[in-house]
Order: sequence, then structure tokens, then C-alpha cells
Amino acid sequence: MSTLNSKVPGGPIKDKWTDYKNHIDLVNPANKRNIDVIVVGTGLAGGSAAATLAELGYNVKAFAYQDSPRRAHSIAAQGGINAAKNYQGDGDSTYRLFYDTVKGGDYRSREANVYRLAEVSANIIDQCVAQGVPFARDYGGLLDNRSFGGVLVSRTFYAKGQTGQQLLLGAYSAMNRQIARGKIEMFNRHEMLDVVKVDGKARGIIARNLVTGEIERHSAHAVVIASGGYGNVYFLSTNAMGSNATAAWKIHKKGAHFANPCYTQIHPTCIPRSGDYQSKLTLMSESLRNDGRIWVPKSMDDVMAIREGRKKPTDLSEEERDYYLERRYPAFGNLVPRDVASRAAKERCDAGYGVNATGEAVYLDFKSAINRYGKEQAKITGISNPSEAKIYELGQALVEEKYGNLFQMYEKIVDENPYETPMMIYPATHYTMGGVWVDYNLMTTVEGLYCIGEANFSDHGANRLGASALMQGLADGYFVLPYTIGDYLSNEIRTGKISTETKEFDEAEKEVTDRINFFVNNKGSKSVDYFHKKLGKVMWDKVGMARNEKGLKEAMAEIKGIREEFWKEVKVPGEASEMNPELEKAGRVADFLELGELFAKDALMREESCGGHFREESVELDGEQKGEAKRNDNDYAFVAAWEYKGEPADAILHKEELEFKDIELKQRSYK
Ligand SMILES: Cc1cc2nc3c(=O)[nH]c(=O)nc-3n(C[C@H](O)[C@H](O)[C@H](O)COP(=O)(O)OP(=O)(O)OC[C@H]3O[C@@H](n4cnc5c(N)ncnc54)[C@H](O)[C@@H]3O)c2cc1C
Repeated sequence: MSTLNSKVPGGPIKDKWTDYKNHIDLVNPANKRNIDVIVVGTGLAGGSAAATLAELGYNVKAFAYQDSPRRAHSIAAQGGINAAKNYQGDGDSTYRLFYDTVKGGDYRSREANVYRLAEVSANIIDQCVAQGVPFARDYGGLLDNRSFGGVLVSRTFYAKGQTGQQLLLGAYSAMNRQIARGKIEMFNRHEMLDVVKVDGKARGIIARNLVTGEIERHSAHAVVIASGGYGNVYFLSTNAMGSNATAAWKIHKKGAHFANPCYTQIHPTCIPRSGDYQSKLTLMSESLRNDGRIWVPKSMDDVMAIREGRKKPTDLSEEERDYYLERRYPAFGNLVPRDVASRAAKERCDAGYGVNATGEAVYLDFKSAINRYGKEQAKITGISNPSEAKIYELGQALVEEKYGNLFQMYEKIVDENPYETPMMIYPATHYTMGGVWVDYNLMTTVEGLYCIGEANFSDHGANRLGASALMQGLADGYFVLPYTIGDYLSNEIRTGKISTETKEFDEAEKEVTDRINFFVNNKGSKSVDYFHKKLGKVMWDKVGMARNEKGLKEAMAEIKGIREEFWKEVKVPGEASEMNPELEKAGRVADFLELGELFAKDALMREESCGGHFREESVELDGEQKGEAKRNDNDYAFVAAWEYKGEPADAILHKEELEFKDIELKQRSYK
């Protein structure tokens, strides 16, 4: 085991980034024209990075497996993006956003990175507004804000329930300008299947053209991975169906350490699973917790009556409802962070209070909000003594204005009108805080290889606060990487064009081709999805919201077993030299089957509860926090970065010790 160098610059935290930028080496404009950068992924992180690097003058080659950058998973982001602008005058500041993020992440993130993130957050909003992103505005025309979990201020900027889509259109238009100028060469429908290293430095990638099946070589002076998160290791998640870990896993196998794989976010407000034939879960944005109240019936009789259809949730009086988050966490109520809200829902459902047929659902109810807004609107519009129906009508209109598209989505999927009956929700896998380890420069443990956005191990520690992923992805892409990569590239100005006709490219291409040929020639009997579902079940049951030593050991052994069966029995129809979605999936699931085992190994090593990682052996036994997660700062205040050594079980642990100089390490309490 070795200690990792995070390359955090010295000096006071508030000056680090500015001082650092003032002293790093720059590349002059004439030299930038001779430097190529590959960006794998054009979601919010990769799209913003590609556009900015091209604007700076570098030659960018950008890759995405979708048919357009507009279809990256980032488009699904609903609720909003944080920034410390303090437009509400409610006491927000760079320090508070920094503090909330470190605390929200359960003190498992790197202070200097988080401070920088908070510092550049305000620039992101200005940048996006300048691009024309239509953020919601208040009555006076100023940008509006709402609140997300784990904070006591309103700092979330939003565009209805489509914030990701609008931000992505902004980044995409910035990219398009550069595509038109010839500064970005865009490779849609291309999947990166390996990175190529020459003399220890990342010098290119091997990609498959997903339409023709052709294998291509691309070289560059630096490679940036922005390939998103790995939540689909659980098979069912709120991620887009195509989201996968392949790019991140391939670079891990070539020397990039993988950090904190066990830190996954299980989001509390998703539409519950309906059965075994489901391939996707749907998020109901956290923004709904601004106005929705979460409850289950107090009495088991009512639970049974609801499940059997003898009663409706609306039949239950206020006294008959258990608003368990408000009861347990009076200070934050329904806006506790996601990990806390998810575990509380699980606790109620495990105790038998789940309100649907599977016993895995709680209510998210807007009745109080509709009433409250209705009364307020009646006053504003001068209606005296409004009837209940009028109050309801006015309140519903306001709720619709705020969350209309989310309500519509819910109704389409569940076939119930959430304005009339409470939504049913349950936690689901949503985001991965773990990922490729990067230093302060966002460089991995491989020289010239960078990782940004959800794909890196990120600034969110063991738990991400709502609306902070978009902030991090865009901070990385627009404001951090474009500086830090310049420092590295300033040493590349004499390198010249990088050839793809070298033994390193030959070897990497051969590895990729051999694997593809194996898949299409294997005479197996089971589909790729068969294995993916099996893996997902083990992950959810044994490496899900709560984990214990026994279950984790079993999970490691079971995943290894599934992997072995996969390589014998997988069947991939079709050819290598054509468009073949099953072949694409096979490669991705093969990587998930390795990552899943490392994930369980990491969870097993971390004998503490922190953020999204809840070890059943590590809970508070008494006092005010009884039953809550128990962190162990003495032994586990480090980033666990794993080095690839063949079998996932053989991976070697490297530690980055976390120092907290500007925030006092405290027990996280939302009571
Ligand atoms: C339903 C949902 C709602 C969310 N809402 C919010 C929200 O309101 N606020 C918030 O802050 N966060 C939200 N998040 C989280 C946030 O959307 C993501 O963390 C973020 O968009 C990830 O951006 P990214 O650019 O890192 O990756 P992605 O958007 O996933 O983009 C990945 C890119 O990499 C490409 N790619 C991947 N692998 C390869 C490969 N091998 N070869 C070539 N290309 C590859 C893809 O084509 C794509 O272009 C939400 C997440 C979900 C699931």
C-alpha cells in the first residue's frame, strides 16, 4: 500500500485555486493549434470541457456512443444545479456551500477540491445564462431558487423539471460552434474500448464505430474521460439504459486507480419497482421534497386496508399518518439528505409499513402544499372566503407550474393522478460518488489521462447532495480542467503529431478485437441481460442500502461465480462488423461483472458507516443518534484508491488520507 499524492497546492483554502492558476504554466495560442486532446463523453462534463478546450484553441476529438451529444444521460437531470449566489439573501456563501458539501458527503471528500467547486459555482450560472439557458425566474424577473436536501438555504437554480436538458443544450450549442469552426471533430456512435499508453503517458484510444463495427485508432497528447457513472451495475437504476462503466474500467485496467467504488447514492424518491420484467427505474426529482410530505400509515391495519384496496390513502386523517422524516429529523424534516431519507424509507418498509403490493413504497403527498399555495394565491388575487374547491384549483395550478412535467411523467407511468392521490415512491440506485481517482488537477494515476464529471471519484465524498452533480460536471468542464490540463500540455508543445502506427496501438487494438471476436463466436446459451440481472440482484440484496460482512463476502463470491459463468455461457447474436447492440452490452456487462466485485471488496474493507455506505455493524447504540450511521474517523478518514492487479479480489489498496483543516470533523446530525 502506498500513499497517494493529491497535489493540493499550499496556502489558505480560499486562495489556493487563485494562486494556483496564477502560477501554472500556460500554452501560447500558436502552440495550442498543434496539440490534440481526446474527450470521451459529451454529457455535461465532457461537452463543456470539449467546447472550452476548443475555444481555447486545442484540437479536440470528442466521442459519444449516442447519435448526438444531446442524448447524453445528463439530459435526464431534473431538479436543478447549485450555486452559492445568495440571491435569496438567506445567508448563503462560498463557505456555506463548501461546508454543506463536505458535511453532506459525511466528511469523506477532499477539502480543497470542494472549496474550489463552491468558488466556481457562481460562474457556472453566469456562463449558462449567457448561453441562453432558460433558468426559472421569479415574479420580478430575477433567477429563482429552490431548496434541495441537506441544506438550510435556497441555492438551487432550475429550469422546471428539465434542468439537465436545458444545460446540455447550452453546452451542445457551445460545442456546435466549435464543430463548425473545425476545432472539434465529433465522433457520434463511437465507443471507446481502450486507452493507449506510450511510455507511461495516455496517447490515444481504440474506439469502435457502432454503426459499421469498424475498429479505429485515435491519438492525442492527452485523453479526458467524461463517461458518466456506473449505477447500472445494479441493473435497475434511474440512469439511462446505456450508462456504463466501460471507459472508466478500461483505464483502471491500464493503471488508473479506482476510488471508493462502494459509495453509491440510493435516491429516496423513485417510482417503485413493479415486477421482475422491468428494465429501468424512474426518478421523481428531489425538488418534490420541497413541497411533498413523506408518510406511511401509523397503524398496520391501515397498511393492510390500503394494500387490499379497502381504503385509499386520502381516507386517512392527519392523526393516522406517520410523517416519519418530520418526526425523526425535526430540523431538516423532509429535506434530510438522500442517504438519510432512503434508509428511513427502508426502515419503515422493512418494519412492514410499505403501502403497495410489494411492500416497498411510501407516500409523497402534496395535499398540504396545494392547500397552502391555494390559500396564498387566493389572498394575492383578492378572493375572500374562497371555497375548498377554489383553494384546491389555485394551489394545483401553482404546483403544476413548479413540477408539472414530473407529475405528468408519474401519471403516465403509474396511471394515477398525483394531484388527487399521493405519489408512491421508494429508493433506487441513482448516482455513484465513487469513480476514477484524480488529483487536484483532475489527472488520474496515469500521466496525461484525466477524468471529469460523474466518472471521477468526485467531490461528493460518501454522499452527494442534490443538484451538486451538474455543478461538479460543469465546474470540471468549463472552469477547472481547461486550466489544469494546460499545465500538463505546456510540456507537450515539442512532441509533434502522435502516430497511431506503433506497437502500443497494435497491442491495444488486438486486445479489443480479440474480445469482440470471442463474444460473437462464443456458443453460449444465455443472454447478456440474464447475467446483468443476476449481478444486479446480488448488488441490490447484498451491496445495497445496508451492507454487512457476511453479505459482502457472499456477494464477492457470487459475483465471481456469475462472471465465470458469463464467460462460458454468454450468447451474443449478430456479427462484429455491423451495428450490434447485444455486442455493445456484452462488453459493458463484462466490465460491470469485474467492477461489482471490487465494489463489494471496497465495502467490505470499509468497516464504518458513512454517507451512502451503511454498514449494519456500525451504528450508534445509544444517545440522541441511536440507530443512526456510525462513522469511524480514526480508522477510515481516507479515500480508498484501488490498483488493478488482475482479479478484482487481488486489487491493491492505496490510501489518500483526508485532512480537515477548515471544517471540524463532526457527527452528521439532521435532527
Ligand atoms: C434521473 C436523473 C436525474 C438527475 N437529476 C439531477 C439534478 O437535478 N441535478 C444534479 O445535479 N444531478 C442530477 N443527476 C445526476 C446528473 O445528471 C449526472 O451525474 C450528470 O449528468 C453526469 O454527467 P456526465 O457528463 O458526467 O456524464 P453523462 O451525462 O452520463 O455523459 C456520459 C457521456 O459519456 C459517453 N460515453 C460513456 N462511455 C463511453 C465510451 N466508452 N465511449 C464513448 N463515449 C462514452 C456517453 O455517450 C455520454 O456522452 C440526475 C441523475 C439522474 C439519473
